[in-house]
Amino acid sequence: MLTDYHVHLRPDHVEATPAERYLTAANAERYRASATECGIEELGVAEHVYRFTQALEVWQHELWRHSARDDLDAYCAFVRAETDLKLGIEADFIPGGEDRMAELLAARDFDYVVGSIHFVGDGALDYDRYDIWSAGSSPEKVWSTYFEWLGQAAASGMFDILAHPDLVKYWGPVQRPWPEGDPRRFYAIAMEAIAESGIAVELSTAGLRKPVGELYPARAFLEMVVDAGNPIALSSDAHTPEDLGRDYDQALALLAELGVGELAVFERRGRRLEPIG
Ligand SMILES: [Zn+2]
Ligand SMILES: [Zn+2]
Repeated sequence: MLTDYHVHLRPDHVEATPAERYLTAANAERYRASATECGIEELGVAEHVYRFTQALEVWQHELWRHSARDDLDAYCAFVRAETDLKLGIEADFIPGGEDRMAELLAARDFDYVVGSIHFVGDGALDYDRYDIWSAGSSPEKVWSTYFEWLGQAAASGMFDILAHPDLVKYWGPVQRPWPEGDPRRFYAIAMEAIAESGIAVELSTAGLRKPVGELYPARAFLEMVVDAGNPIALSSDAHTPEDLGRDYDQALALLAELGVGELAVFERRGRRLEPIG
């Protein structure tokens, strides 16, 4: 089986992607058709939590206030009633907001929750508008904090899948500051909590489409995850039907090299493993 769970029914541009045009049966059908072409049977959507007004109960960042326009329950009802897709959500780990986010998530019947870190404090890792790298912190500090929080996100128990686990590398070493030496010392900061939590860790092809031009996570990170025995969840983080399953050949080759033969599959927040293929 192949999966694509971390999928968005629309690009991130808020004004250009209103729910009434993108959260529709016809749009979901385009994604299903593209998945079928790629041989992806298990397909789910995971819209950004901050596109929904309920997220403002958790965090009040300017981006969230700008983006929170749709109703979360209407999204859930739409996916269940009008599509054959699994119902997921991409929820951010917001330190200090854990209880409120946990409550928001537990109140809906998701098949799975994808947990992400896009911001360290108020600074964004992958969005130049709120760029963390222009705020004066050293790369050592940003990377250490990021991986500390990643471990906390895993340990929080709120999430089923740890998304794009080394997103901190988004801009690559040329466009932004980059720490010296072997990055495994940063991965190690998160790894104990990841191992203990048993959370599924995402292998995402999205990084190949970003400035860094690599899979998320780096091979060395994935090796540590495989050693720890955590299951792997495979996704493209597509925001268009065309990006569904994109570059899966590279992801599958890496999984084969590391001896990973199964993928995590989710239903109503239960997990099982299915052979890859
Ligand atoms: Zn994300
Ligand atoms: Zn995403």
